[in-house]
Amino acid sequence: AERLFAMPGVLELLSRSNSTSQAFAEVLRLPKQQLRKLLYPLQEVERFLAPDRRQDLHLRIFDPSPEDIARADNVFTATKGNRIDYVSSAVRIDHAPDLPRPEVCFIGRSNVGKSSLIKALFSLAPEVEVRVSKKPGHTKKMNFFKVGKHFTVVDMPGYGYRAPEDFVDMVETYLKERRNLKRTFLLVDSVVGIQKTDNIAIEMCEEFALPYVIVLTKIDKSSKGHLLKQVLQIQKFVNTKTQGCFPQLFPVSSVTFSGIHLLRSFIASVTGNLD
Ligand code: GDP
Repeated sequence: AERLFAMPGVLELLSRSNSTSQAFAEVLRLPKQQLRKLLYPLQEVERFLAPDRRQDLHLRIFDPSPEDIARADNVFTATKGNRIDYVSSAVRIDHAPDLPRPEVCFIGRSNVGKSSLIKALFSLAPEVEVRVSKKPGHTKKMNFFKVGKHFTVVDMPGYGYRAPEDFVDMVETYLKERRNLKRTFLLVDSVVGIQKTDNIAIEMCEEFALPYVIVLTKIDKSSKGHLLKQVLQIQKFVNTKTQGCFPQLFPVSSVTFSGIHLLRSFIASVTGNLD
Protein backbone atom coordinates (compact mmCIF):
# COMPACT_ATOMS: atom_id res chain seq x y z
CA ALA A 1 0.00 0.00 0.00
CA GLU A 2 2.81 2.37 0.89
CA ARG A 3 4.31 1.82 -2.56
CA LEU A 4 0.98 2.53 -4.11
CA PHE A 5 0.62 5.87 -2.40
CA ALA A 6 4.28 6.84 -2.47
CA MET A 7 4.47 6.72 -6.24
CA PRO A 8 1.69 8.61 -7.92
CA GLY A 9 3.37 7.76 -11.22
CA VAL A 10 2.60 4.06 -10.70
CA LEU A 11 -1.10 4.80 -10.55
CA GLU A 12 -0.91 6.89 -13.67
CA LEU A 13 1.03 4.18 -15.47
CA LEU A 14 -1.28 1.40 -14.33
CA SER A 15 -4.41 3.24 -15.33
CA ARG A 16 -3.02 3.69 -18.83
CA SER A 17 -1.51 0.23 -19.17
CA ASN A 18 -3.14 -2.14 -21.66
CA SER A 19 -2.79 -5.05 -19.29
CA THR A 20 -4.89 -3.30 -16.65
CA SER A 21 -8.58 -4.08 -16.97
CA GLN A 22 -10.95 -1.23 -17.61
CA ALA A 23 -12.60 -1.85 -14.25
CA PHE A 24 -9.36 -1.65 -12.32
CA ALA A 25 -8.26 1.44 -14.22
CA GLU A 26 -11.45 3.10 -12.97
CA VAL A 27 -10.66 2.00 -9.43
CA LEU A 28 -7.22 3.59 -9.61
CA ARG A 29 -8.78 6.95 -10.35
CA LEU A 30 -10.43 7.05 -6.92
CA PRO A 31 -9.18 9.58 -4.35
CA LYS A 32 -6.32 8.17 -2.23
CA GLN A 33 -8.28 7.68 0.97
CA GLN A 34 -11.09 5.84 -0.81
CA LEU A 35 -8.58 3.77 -2.74
CA ARG A 36 -6.82 2.69 0.45
CA LYS A 37 -10.12 1.70 2.05
CA LEU A 38 -11.13 -0.27 -1.02
CA LEU A 39 -7.83 -2.08 -1.56
CA TYR A 40 -6.42 -2.43 1.96
CA PRO A 41 -9.27 -2.37 4.52
CA LEU A 42 -7.10 -3.83 7.28
CA GLN A 43 -4.58 -1.00 6.95
CA GLU A 44 -7.48 1.40 7.20
CA VAL A 45 -8.51 -0.26 10.49
CA GLU A 46 -4.91 -0.10 11.75
CA ARG A 47 -4.93 3.69 11.56
CA PHE A 48 -7.33 3.73 14.52
CA LEU A 49 -5.11 1.51 16.69
CA ALA A 50 -2.79 2.83 19.39
CA PRO A 51 0.83 2.39 18.14
CA ASP A 52 1.65 -0.13 20.92
CA ARG A 53 -1.18 -2.41 19.77
CA ARG A 54 -0.20 -2.41 16.12
CA GLN A 55 2.21 -5.31 16.38
CA ASP A 56 -0.74 -7.58 17.35
CA LEU A 57 -2.20 -7.19 13.91
CA HIS A 58 -0.68 -8.97 10.91
CA LEU A 59 -1.14 -6.61 8.03
CA ARG A 60 1.51 -7.11 5.47
CA ILE A 61 2.33 -10.80 5.33
CA PHE A 62 0.49 -10.80 2.05
CA ASP A 63 1.24 -7.41 0.54
CA PRO A 64 0.81 -7.49 -3.23
CA SER A 65 1.98 -4.63 -5.38
CA PRO A 66 -0.61 -2.65 -7.33
CA GLU A 67 0.66 -4.46 -10.44
CA ASP A 68 -0.10 -7.82 -8.78
CA ILE A 69 -3.58 -6.62 -7.87
CA ALA A 70 -4.17 -5.55 -11.46
CA ARG A 71 -2.90 -8.93 -12.74
CA ALA A 72 -5.16 -10.82 -10.36
CA ASP A 73 -8.15 -8.81 -11.57
CA ASN A 74 -7.28 -9.90 -15.09
CA VAL A 75 -7.34 -13.54 -13.97
CA PHE A 76 -10.88 -12.94 -12.68
CA THR A 77 -12.01 -11.15 -15.86
CA ALA A 78 -14.02 -13.27 -18.28
CA THR A 79 -12.81 -13.03 -21.89
CA LYS A 80 -12.92 -15.33 -24.91
CA GLY A 81 -9.59 -16.79 -23.89
CA ASN A 82 -10.37 -16.87 -20.18
CA ARG A 83 -13.75 -18.47 -19.67
CA ILE A 84 -15.22 -18.29 -16.22
CA ASP A 85 -18.09 -20.74 -15.82
CA TYR A 86 -20.22 -22.65 -13.41
CA VAL A 87 -19.21 -26.30 -13.97
CA SER A 88 -21.52 -28.49 -11.90
CA SER A 89 -22.84 -29.25 -8.44
CA ALA A 90 -22.39 -32.29 -6.27
CA VAL A 91 -23.83 -33.65 -3.05
CA ARG A 92 -21.10 -36.24 -2.65
CA ILE A 93 -17.39 -35.99 -3.17
CA ASP A 94 -17.44 -38.90 -5.64
CA HIS A 95 -19.82 -36.83 -7.79
CA ALA A 96 -17.48 -33.84 -7.77
CA PRO A 97 -16.09 -32.95 -11.21
CA ASP A 98 -12.63 -34.22 -11.93
CA LEU A 99 -10.81 -30.91 -12.37
CA PRO A 100 -7.04 -31.07 -12.34
CA ARG A 101 -6.41 -27.39 -11.57
CA PRO A 102 -5.64 -26.02 -8.11
CA GLU A 103 -8.82 -25.49 -6.10
CA VAL A 104 -9.99 -23.10 -3.40
CA CYS A 105 -13.18 -23.48 -1.39
CA PHE A 106 -15.42 -21.17 0.61
CA ILE A 107 -17.16 -22.33 3.75
CA GLY A 108 -19.22 -20.51 6.36
CA ARG A 109 -22.45 -20.38 8.35
CA SER A 110 -25.69 -19.79 6.46
CA ASN A 111 -26.21 -16.05 6.08
CA VAL A 112 -22.54 -15.18 6.64
CA GLY A 113 -22.50 -13.56 3.19
CA LYS A 114 -20.92 -16.39 1.21
CA SER A 115 -22.96 -16.15 -1.97
CA SER A 116 -22.67 -12.35 -1.95
CA LEU A 117 -18.90 -12.68 -1.62
CA ILE A 118 -18.60 -15.19 -4.45
CA LYS A 119 -20.76 -12.92 -6.63
CA ALA A 120 -18.47 -9.99 -5.78
CA LEU A 121 -15.34 -12.01 -6.62
CA PHE A 122 -16.95 -12.93 -9.96
CA SER A 123 -18.20 -9.44 -10.75
CA LEU A 124 -15.77 -9.27 -13.69
CA ALA A 125 -17.55 -12.30 -15.17
CA PRO A 126 -21.13 -11.06 -14.96
CA GLU A 127 -22.59 -14.00 -16.87
CA VAL A 128 -21.55 -16.47 -14.15
CA GLU A 129 -24.60 -17.51 -12.24
CA VAL A 130 -23.88 -18.03 -8.57
CA ARG A 131 -26.66 -20.42 -7.65
CA VAL A 132 -28.17 -20.31 -4.24
CA SER A 133 -30.53 -22.88 -2.82
CA LYS A 134 -31.78 -21.64 0.47
CA LYS A 135 -35.22 -23.16 0.64
CA PRO A 136 -35.52 -25.18 3.82
CA GLY A 137 -35.30 -28.87 3.12
CA HIS A 138 -33.68 -28.19 -0.24
CA THR A 139 -30.59 -30.33 -0.77
CA LYS A 140 -27.48 -28.32 -0.20
CA LYS A 141 -24.76 -28.83 -2.74
CA MET A 142 -21.18 -28.00 -3.46
CA ASN A 143 -20.98 -25.76 -6.54
CA PHE A 144 -17.90 -25.80 -8.76
CA PHE A 145 -16.76 -22.83 -10.85
CA LYS A 146 -13.91 -22.85 -13.33
CA VAL A 147 -11.73 -19.74 -13.66
CA GLY A 148 -10.13 -20.10 -17.08
CA LYS A 149 -7.22 -22.51 -17.05
CA HIS A 150 -6.17 -21.11 -13.70
CA PHE A 151 -8.14 -22.70 -10.85
CA THR A 152 -11.48 -23.90 -9.52
CA VAL A 153 -13.61 -22.11 -6.92
CA VAL A 154 -15.93 -24.25 -4.81
CA ASP A 155 -18.90 -22.82 -2.99
CA MET A 156 -19.60 -25.19 -0.10
CA PRO A 157 -23.07 -25.37 1.45
CA GLY A 158 -23.60 -23.10 4.43
CA TYR A 159 -23.69 -24.71 7.83
CA GLY A 160 -25.87 -23.66 10.69
CA TYR A 161 -27.28 -24.43 14.05
CA ARG A 162 -29.14 -27.42 12.66
CA ALA A 163 -26.63 -28.57 10.07
CA PRO A 164 -27.74 -32.06 9.10
CA GLU A 165 -25.27 -34.83 9.60
CA ASP A 166 -25.01 -35.68 5.92
CA PHE A 167 -23.94 -32.08 5.34
CA VAL A 168 -21.12 -32.31 7.88
CA ASP A 169 -20.12 -35.59 6.24
CA MET A 170 -20.07 -33.92 2.83
CA VAL A 171 -17.91 -30.99 3.90
CA GLU A 172 -15.67 -33.12 6.06
CA THR A 173 -15.08 -35.69 3.31
CA TYR A 174 -14.40 -32.96 0.76
CA LEU A 175 -11.90 -31.20 3.02
CA LYS A 176 -10.18 -34.44 3.91
CA GLU A 177 -10.02 -36.00 0.46
CA ARG A 178 -9.82 -33.28 -2.18
CA ARG A 179 -6.23 -33.58 -3.29
CA ASN A 180 -5.93 -30.37 -5.30
CA LEU A 181 -7.48 -28.18 -2.57
CA LYS A 182 -4.97 -25.39 -2.07
CA ARG A 183 -6.78 -23.13 0.39
CA THR A 184 -9.98 -23.06 2.40
CA PHE A 185 -11.57 -19.67 2.95
CA LEU A 186 -13.54 -19.70 6.15
CA LEU A 187 -16.04 -16.86 6.36
CA VAL A 188 -16.82 -15.18 9.69
CA ASP A 189 -19.39 -12.42 10.07
CA SER A 190 -17.45 -9.37 11.29
CA VAL A 191 -20.52 -8.01 13.07
CA VAL A 192 -20.89 -10.96 15.46
CA GLY A 193 -17.42 -12.56 15.37
CA ILE A 194 -16.63 -16.27 15.72
CA GLN A 195 -19.71 -18.27 16.69
CA LYS A 196 -20.06 -21.78 18.10
CA THR A 197 -20.80 -23.30 14.70
CA ASP A 198 -17.77 -21.55 13.20
CA ASN A 199 -15.66 -23.48 15.68
CA ILE A 200 -16.81 -26.76 14.14
CA ALA A 201 -15.38 -25.65 10.78
CA ILE A 202 -12.20 -24.29 12.40
CA GLU A 203 -11.69 -27.58 14.23
CA MET A 204 -12.17 -29.51 10.98
CA CYS A 205 -9.50 -27.43 9.22
CA GLU A 206 -7.14 -27.82 12.18
CA GLU A 207 -7.73 -31.55 12.47
CA PHE A 208 -6.96 -32.17 8.80
CA ALA A 209 -4.01 -29.76 8.94
CA LEU A 210 -5.44 -27.73 6.06
CA PRO A 211 -4.09 -24.32 5.17
CA TYR A 212 -7.05 -21.96 5.70
CA VAL A 213 -7.78 -18.27 5.84
CA ILE A 214 -10.34 -16.30 7.82
CA VAL A 215 -12.35 -13.82 5.77
CA LEU A 216 -14.36 -11.26 7.75
CA THR A 217 -17.59 -10.44 5.92
CA LYS A 218 -19.96 -7.44 5.96
CA ILE A 219 -17.40 -4.93 7.24
CA ASP A 220 -19.54 -2.05 5.95
CA LYS A 221 -22.16 -2.84 8.62
CA SER A 222 -20.10 -1.93 11.70
CA SER A 223 -18.73 1.30 13.08
CA LYS A 224 -14.92 1.56 12.92
CA GLY A 225 -14.72 0.99 16.69
CA HIS A 226 -16.79 -2.17 16.60
CA LEU A 227 -14.90 -3.51 13.58
CA LEU A 228 -11.56 -2.82 15.24
CA LYS A 229 -12.68 -4.67 18.38
CA GLN A 230 -13.79 -7.71 16.37
CA VAL A 231 -10.64 -7.69 14.23
CA LEU A 232 -8.41 -7.63 17.33
CA GLN A 233 -10.39 -10.39 19.03
CA ILE A 234 -10.28 -12.65 15.98
CA GLN A 235 -6.60 -11.86 15.35
CA LYS A 236 -5.83 -12.88 18.95
CA PHE A 237 -7.75 -16.10 18.44
CA VAL A 238 -5.81 -16.84 15.24
CA ASN A 239 -2.46 -16.01 16.91
CA THR A 240 -3.02 -18.14 19.99
CA LYS A 241 -5.45 -20.93 19.10
CA THR A 242 -4.71 -22.00 15.54
CA GLN A 243 -1.95 -23.74 13.66
CA GLY A 244 -3.08 -23.89 10.06
CA CYS A 245 -4.78 -20.51 9.81
CA PHE A 246 -3.03 -17.84 7.75
CA PRO A 247 -2.07 -15.12 10.28
CA GLN A 248 -3.45 -12.25 8.22
CA LEU A 249 -7.21 -11.64 8.25
CA PHE A 250 -9.08 -10.63 5.10
CA PRO A 251 -11.90 -8.17 5.85
CA VAL A 252 -14.37 -7.69 2.98
CA SER A 253 -17.62 -6.03 2.07
CA SER A 254 -19.62 -7.32 -0.86
CA VAL A 255 -21.57 -4.06 -0.81
CA THR A 256 -18.72 -1.52 -1.00
CA PHE A 257 -16.26 -4.05 -2.56
CA SER A 258 -13.71 -3.20 0.11
CA GLY A 259 -11.12 -6.01 0.34
CA ILE A 260 -12.41 -7.82 -2.77
CA HIS A 261 -9.42 -6.95 -4.99
CA LEU A 262 -6.99 -8.03 -2.27
CA LEU A 263 -8.82 -11.32 -1.81
CA ARG A 264 -8.72 -11.93 -5.58
CA SER A 265 -4.95 -11.36 -5.47
CA PHE A 266 -4.55 -13.78 -2.59
CA ILE A 267 -6.53 -16.46 -4.42
CA ALA A 268 -4.46 -15.88 -7.56
CA SER A 269 -1.32 -16.12 -5.45
CA VAL A 270 -2.15 -19.36 -3.58
CA THR A 271 -3.14 -21.04 -6.83
CA GLY A 272 0.19 -20.12 -8.41
CA ASN A 273 -1.16 -17.42 -10.73
CA LEU A 274 0.88 -14.47 -9.52
CA ASP A 275 4.30 -16.08 -9.88
P1 GDP B 1 -25.02 -16.82 2.53
O1 GDP B 1 -26.19 -17.52 3.16
O2 GDP B 1 -23.80 -17.02 3.34
O3 GDP B 1 -24.83 -17.15 1.08
O4 GDP B 1 -25.31 -15.24 2.66
P2 GDP B 1 -25.80 -14.17 1.59
O5 GDP B 1 -24.72 -13.80 0.66
O6 GDP B 1 -27.10 -14.60 0.99
O7 GDP B 1 -26.03 -12.93 2.57
C1 GDP B 1 -26.90 -13.01 3.69
C2 GDP B 1 -27.46 -11.61 3.95
O8 GDP B 1 -26.42 -10.71 4.27
C3 GDP B 1 -28.17 -11.01 2.73
O9 GDP B 1 -29.28 -10.26 3.18
C4 GDP B 1 -27.11 -10.12 2.11
O10 GDP B 1 -27.67 -9.03 1.41
C5 GDP B 1 -26.36 -9.64 3.34
N1 GDP B 1 -24.94 -9.36 3.03
C6 GDP B 1 -24.07 -10.21 2.47
N2 GDP B 1 -22.86 -9.63 2.35
C7 GDP B 1 -22.99 -8.37 2.83
C8 GDP B 1 -22.08 -7.28 2.98
O11 GDP B 1 -20.88 -7.32 2.63
N3 GDP B 1 -22.58 -6.13 3.55
C9 GDP B 1 -23.87 -6.02 3.95
N4 GDP B 1 -24.28 -4.87 4.49
N5 GDP B 1 -24.74 -7.05 3.83
C10 GDP B 1 -24.32 -8.21 3.27
